[in-house]
Amino acid sequence: MTAPPKNTPCTAPDAPTTPMPPTPTAPDTGTTPPSGLATPAAAGAPSVPAATHAPATPEAVRTDAVPTDALAAATALHSPVLAWFDQHARDLPWRRPEAGAWGVMVSEFMLQQTPVSRVLPVYEQWMARWPRPADLAAEAPGEAVRAWGRLGYPRRALRLHGAAVAITERHGGDVPTQHAQLLALPGIGEYTAAAVASFAYGQRHPVLDTNVRRVLARAVTGVQYPPNATTAAERKLARALLPDDAATAARWAAASMELGALVCTAKNENCARCPVTDRCAWRLAGKPEHAGPARRGQTYAGTDRQVRGKLLAVLREAPGAVPQHVLDRVWHEPVQRARALDGLVADGLVEPLPHGMYRLPLT
Ligand code: SF4
Repeated sequence: MTAPPKNTPCTAPDAPTTPMPPTPTAPDTGTTPPSGLATPAAAGAPSVPAATHAPATPEAVRTDAVPTDALAAATALHSPVLAWFDQHARDLPWRRPEAGAWGVMVSEFMLQQTPVSRVLPVYEQWMARWPRPADLAAEAPGEAVRAWGRLGYPRRALRLHGAAVAITERHGGDVPTQHAQLLALPGIGEYTAAAVASFAYGQRHPVLDTNVRRVLARAVTGVQYPPNATTAAERKLARALLPDDAATAARWAAASMELGALVCTAKNENCARCPVTDRCAWRLAGKPEHAGPARRGQTYAGTDRQVRGKLLAVLREAPGAVPQHVLDRVWHEPVQRARALDGLVADGLVEPLPHGMYRLPLT
């Protein structure tokens, strides 16, 4: 069995996956991807036979896709980044053995586009209340939305609840060990499946979140930022860069993610503290400015996301159903307010009742 890779949650899940540029997470609304490295095979997680640690996905490494010299330069990053991770990895609850695969999965959902500092208290409460997938599955989905609090992108709560139900029904309550099984769970995309397989079970998968993408873009490709959306070339590079050994590959995934979260951040790259400063392609090139398409930004104030957040906050704090006129107080503009409420209903986050009443979903 491999030593558990230290978990490194980071940024992104995916329901549909799409690691986004790190953004200031606004309180609340709902959608998507993050990460962390958990130590492979955390205690409490179903143990994985050594044989299953072999590449479990069709993602066989294709080194032919990356020029040999570039690949050699890139793989030279492994040792310094792994050594740095040994020294600087944060002690986070989902990286501890007791977190188990369920803890890793919960953290991956929560960390998508939400900073660690905001996730920590919610994660602790969540795991205390629902220490196993079956515990969450036994509750109404609205309780998951309520407990999600102000983490933002609350559809993640519904997806996590759906995954818990599927794990309970199809896998006897244990988070499945195989990438394909994880990917088949509702609300789990490529990123989250790879992250859970890697961080919880120490398997060998490219875990390409926004932090990893940025580190690879700078250190290997020599550009300031990766493309707005993950490209086939990035996936190819990430696969080619995977260390052969599963345990080391899992640690590499966590380590490169942590480097992007702590040192090579979107706003401030701290090259003086970076373990690969002497071989970083972007730094050695003089840090040329981003020449690609404008990077996507995220605004919050005045958007439908903000209105959705306000509506959901009222529903979360109410013990039961809430009348329309109470919801009407949260936002002055009726058209936008109605659109936001309709969106919440369409997303399954709010359940409309007769006589203009609304509540969090019971089913
Ligand atoms: S040297 Fe600077 S830009 Fe390059 S990976 Fe390290 S922190 Fe990022």
